[in-house]
Amino acid sequence: DESSASADKPRILLMGLRRSGKSSIQKIWDFPGQVDFFDPAFDSEMIFKGAGALIFVIDAQDDYMEALVRLHLTVSRAYKVNPDINFEVFIHKVDGLSDDHKIETQRDIHQRANDDLADASLEKVHLSFYLTSIYDHSIFEAFSKVVQKLIPQLPTLENLLNIFISHSGIEKAFLFDVVSKIYIATDSSPVDMQSYELCCDMIDVVIDVSCIYGLMEDGSGCAYDKESLAIIKLNNTTVLYLKEVTKFLALVCILREESFERKGLIEYNFHCFRKAIHEVFEVGASTPSDVQNPASS
Ligand code: GDP
Repeated sequence: DESSASADKPRILLMGLRRSGKSSIQKIWDFPGQVDFFDPAFDSEMIFKGAGALIFVIDAQDDYMEALVRLHLTVSRAYKVNPDINFEVFIHKVDGLSDDHKIETQRDIHQRANDDLADASLEKVHLSFYLTSIYDHSIFEAFSKVVQKLIPQLPTLENLLNIFISHSGIEKAFLFDVVSKIYIATDSSPVDMQSYELCCDMIDVVIDVSCIYGLMEDGSGCAYDKESLAIIKLNNTTVLYLKEVTKFLALVCILREESFERKGLIEYNFHCFRKAIHEVFEVGASTPSDVQNPASS
């Protein structure tokens, strides 16, 4: 029974007009959930009930009046079935727009969408807006934020990251899902796009190098495992530090070269951080051999 199997995990739905960019977004990582509202088999009751978030994609390079009508229809229908859904609007394909045009488009779409909701006495419904493109990291950044809202442990993760960086002299830290390159949490200092892109690029480099050189001759082995660790020194005295946290998650940090001189401290703090993360997700609970025991003498 599919509905009971998916009942406990938050589901993200991806909707929007044809050619708005849904398939392209979906290709970037592996997630099910594209639904066609106008498919006759569409059962709004069933689909919206289990959803945690509904992403509605609007093509910013095209006339978006029809998309706004569809957005309103979709949101009002979904809200009736499930008022707890997070409504996330991706103003997409903004790579073709100038910065001024981007801001103006977002303002206009925001205004019109909220006016439509107010006209329908649905001003309680909250829409979040993101400017996205598949040609840069904005789509990952937006998706990260959508996912983060669905993670109940988020405040705990942020807190652990804050403690870790402040005790280790680290400037910025992200907890990344290695496969999708979505960060599920970061410390509370502001995220700038450049740092985020650096960290994404580092994951790519580490996985690529591991795939080429890390596998055994017989093809066994894994591109990402418990031993995964990488340090990249950039020529501007910045250091990037990546380390495995769980099977799916990696910590990626940005720090200054002088802070990295206290590598032992960072390693010790990382060890504590990793242990805490495992407790949050209760991973390793069934595999006690994974837990490193402190010396008992
Ligand atoms: P779907 O019908 O909603 O699944 O839309 P597609 O993913 O098939 O995309 C429709 C067209 O938009 C394709 O030609 C894509 O290459 C293009 N497209 C998708 N995302 C972007 C983007 O971020 N920027 C630009 N410029 N084009 C995009």
